[in-house]
Amino acid sequence: MNRKKLFSIIAVLLLLVVSGAAVLVLFTKRNQNSAPVSAVQMFSFNSGLEHEKRDDAYRTTYQIFVYSFCDSNGDGIGDLNGIRSKLDYIQDLGFDEIWLTPVHPSPTYHKYDVTDYYGIDPEFGSLEDYDLLLKECHERGIRVLMDLVVNHTAYAHEWFQKASDYLHELPSDWEPDPSYCPYFDYYQFSREPKDGYAPLQDTNWYYEARFWSGMPDLNLDSPVVREEIQKIASFWFGRGVDGFRLDAVTSYHTGDPEANVGFMKWFCQTCRTLKPDCYIVGEAWTDRNAIAKLYESGIDSLFDFPFAGNDGIIRNTISHSVKASDFVNVMISLDEQYRSSNPGYIDAPFYTNHDIARSAGYYALDEGPETKMAYGLSLLMSGNSFVYYGEEIGMKGSGKDENKRAPMYWSDSPDDSDLCAGPPDMDQVKMKFPSVADQMTDDLSILNWFREVISVRNAFPVIARGSIEASNISTDTVAAFYKVDPEERNVLIIINLGDEETSCDLSSEADGYSMVAVLNTSEEWITLEEKTLTLPGHSIAVFAEDLS
Ligand code: CA
Repeated sequence: MNRKKLFSIIAVLLLLVVSGAAVLVLFTKRNQNSAPVSAVQMFSFNSGLEHEKRDDAYRTTYQIFVYSFCDSNGDGIGDLNGIRSKLDYIQDLGFDEIWLTPVHPSPTYHKYDVTDYYGIDPEFGSLEDYDLLLKECHERGIRVLMDLVVNHTAYAHEWFQKASDYLHELPSDWEPDPSYCPYFDYYQFSREPKDGYAPLQDTNWYYEARFWSGMPDLNLDSPVVREEIQKIASFWFGRGVDGFRLDAVTSYHTGDPEANVGFMKWFCQTCRTLKPDCYIVGEAWTDRNAIAKLYESGIDSLFDFPFAGNDGIIRNTISHSVKASDFVNVMISLDEQYRSSNPGYIDAPFYTNHDIARSAGYYALDEGPETKMAYGLSLLMSGNSFVYYGEEIGMKGSGKDENKRAPMYWSDSPDDSDLCAGPPDMDQVKMKFPSVADQMTDDLSILNWFREVISVRNAFPVIARGSIEASNISTDTVAAFYKVDPEERNVLIIINLGDEETSCDLSSEADGYSMVAVLNTSEEWITLEEKTLTLPGHSIAVFAEDLS
């Protein structure tokens, strides 16, 4: 080998070493600048999605049971300042509305028996705390729904106490005179025992109390009671409340749907006069026909109970006792039924709430995918989708009501001052899935699934606002449907509810659509080759119209 040749070889080797080092430096730099790449496809695939905001009532709402959510002052009771300290958490998950269970003064922990409709229970904070919470929510674009309980008051409410005092003093052979005591007309009193009535102690009177004797039912036909309710709504709208969740609307006039429609119609019209863009959602824990009837009131929303709970349509679809294709058909038929009563209705899908056993207990063998898919279905439904706090981490809680309202499981640390003690008389609730703190760092956690599903819901406004059209791709285990709205970019959603991988032939569907989002419950990737979509078990693909 001559010297010249040796010199060239050394030069080439040097060049290789130098360029190799440069590549290594570049590679290291790139990895220092970005988070490590997740093996879960959705985090990279969906990374470009952004929240397409609309100024309307189609929201994703987080239901907070105030007593058990977050404690700010160390007394073990959740409070308004605690909620305010968690707004980053709520917003980061993509929620843009919160519904707080009642916050008014009340003798119970749940506060569904109100003693003062104009105050805040001292356990939860003050009016100033409530104002500050409203202000900070509004700055973040989060709307706030107040739980309004007007079917009944607390026994200890001043109105009932005054009526009761009057009847105690009234000679037994005298007729009551509402002009002397107007509060007599606020409730339903009777000299005869009746179904749903409780005896008024030390008198020969009875009063309507459908839930229990501590909750006397208001007389909602009374003009003076309606005047009081109008004043209450006006007071809270004046402070900035965006709308109301109405408790127990089927009990307003028990067994008289027509009268319930009448009261709700009056209430909604009254609220719209006070605040034209307010939003009202009612709790009618009943079947689809009864819900459809109540939509005649013109109320914006009624919770979609047929889909919820352990015996609802979502649960039965997940366990395959309802075919995936029928899940789509039921969504379409319920939409038609509700729409025929109120063309402007907004569906209010949900899966659980503070009265229903938590969903993680529905699937004994589930390690996450079934809980995730149930919320995939619920959160991809049209309307205003509601999620009960703690469901986003698969909390457990069943049996007595207190157990369904267990403290939000922020972390395992006994020093975590956010943790609440939980309702008195609650059993020890053993959790199945890790805490918020632990799920934050696990790509495949239920928490990260929720954030990703909501980000897809928020990126394509048609998912909440569109009407539903069936796709021929649906099978017994694949639910496929379009969301269509002339004002929005339409989507096709394809959900594999089976455990096994499946392939879908898209040659007759999704013409002019592209795959825009994926949702995975494992590290298996969703692939699209030509017109063949391959979905691993328990995964979702979303296609959207190509932008012209
Ligand atoms: Ca507290």
